[in-house]
Amino acid sequence: MSPRAAAARVLAQLAGPGGAIGDLLAPHRELREFGLLREICHGVCRHRDALDFLLGKLLERPLRKRDQDLRYLLLGALHQLRELAVPEHAVVNETVRAAGELGKDWAKPLANAVLRNFQRRRDELELALAGESAAVRFSHPQWLVEAIGADWPRHCQPILEQNNVRPPLCLRVNRRKADREQGMRRLREAGVECDPGQLAPSAIYLPKPRPVGEIPGFAEGWFSVQDEASQLVPGLLAAAPGERVLDACAAPGGKTCHLLETEPGLASCLALERDAGRSAMIQDNLARLGLDADLAVADAADPPAWWDGEPFGRILLDAPCSATGVIRRHPDIKLLLRPADLAAHAATQARLLRALWRCLKPGGHLLYTTCSLLRRENEQITGRFLAETDDAETLPIAADWGIECAQGRQLLPNGPVGPDGFYFCLLSKALRGKAAAR
Ligand code: SAM
Repeated sequence: MSPRAAAARVLAQLAGPGGAIGDLLAPHRELREFGLLREICHGVCRHRDALDFLLGKLLERPLRKRDQDLRYLLLGALHQLRELAVPEHAVVNETVRAAGELGKDWAKPLANAVLRNFQRRRDELELALAGESAAVRFSHPQWLVEAIGADWPRHCQPILEQNNVRPPLCLRVNRRKADREQGMRRLREAGVECDPGQLAPSAIYLPKPRPVGEIPGFAEGWFSVQDEASQLVPGLLAAAPGERVLDACAAPGGKTCHLLETEPGLASCLALERDAGRSAMIQDNLARLGLDADLAVADAADPPAWWDGEPFGRILLDAPCSATGVIRRHPDIKLLLRPADLAAHAATQARLLRALWRCLKPGGHLLYTTCSLLRRENEQITGRFLAETDDAETLPIAADWGIECAQGRQLLPNGPVGPDGFYFCLLSKALRGKAAAR
């Protein structure tokens, strides 16, 4: 099947009960033009409402419900005409052909007319689009525009814009193999352009993204792919030699591995993950990087199921969340996330935080992080926890990055060379409870 027809099918499934785009794309990985397929799928997710607006102006009457595949084929073609360096005649011809592949020969003249019409009326249509609401122009559900606007009124439009850019490729250099200078030298000697990150000492950006198989040293464990925001974690958790560390929501293991690369002398590191399939990914990453951790598949909110009763000196809770800070990497979030999901995430986050606190030793630190932009998953969770927990206090994060919150710090997504949206709050367990200390 051609990449255009395959993209139409994947996108129609995604809009139904299909699941995340990564899972839907996985069976197509061997396709010769997989890159184009993925670009069309991601592009349509990024700009779906804007593309639907344009398509609506080009159709004499709306498409039938059962023609969702055709709708997505045409949205994909409009995306190619607007943003990709594919010759326009090829976009039109291949889209018409793909309509046949979808078993819709009757739609070939329609596809041809819609796309040629767009070529003729492009300026007028783009002008009309510019007058539409932020939700349509930036293709975000209205409720999400409102939620981001309520939490970040001054930053709302830049966030919506940043959510629609192609994310940078950021590598983490494995400190056990090389320092950043050596890592960058190795890349440059192989002709790979690279720049140091500005926030995390291990971060290296590749301005021209490439598959990991083509990154020199990747297979030998010199590098991992990890956003720069996530690479700030070991510096904040500051685990010392001899410390017992728990990474409570660990898969696929990016932060577990980074913690181990940064401090080889830990007494132990337990990587806990509820999902067995995802836990296997932690093992794969540890093996590639030549690292070792204890793995357990269990619900972190149920310590009796996995905890030996020996307290940890450092705990990382990288909590499951709405992932609204990483929409640029996973644009399907805009199609899949529902308002009710936020309440469910907040309940899980609060439950995890309360349960894990019991496993932290007095004087120990717990770092709460999410890749969410929304205060109800971030400072409202940590704020309520602090109010109800006698022996918890926040430690200031002295940093020149991000925005200081009531407690913790927030990074907003910032491209083309910059971090994802991420929240950090460092909590310390008092040696005596606040009440006892008074
Ligand atoms: N820290 C990871 C990394 O850097 O690679 C990313 C973690 S991801 C944000 C959250 C993970 O928590 C998911 O893999 C999810 O399956 C897991 N998870 C969700 N609820 C959990 C629970 N109750 N107990 C343990 N793991 C959980």
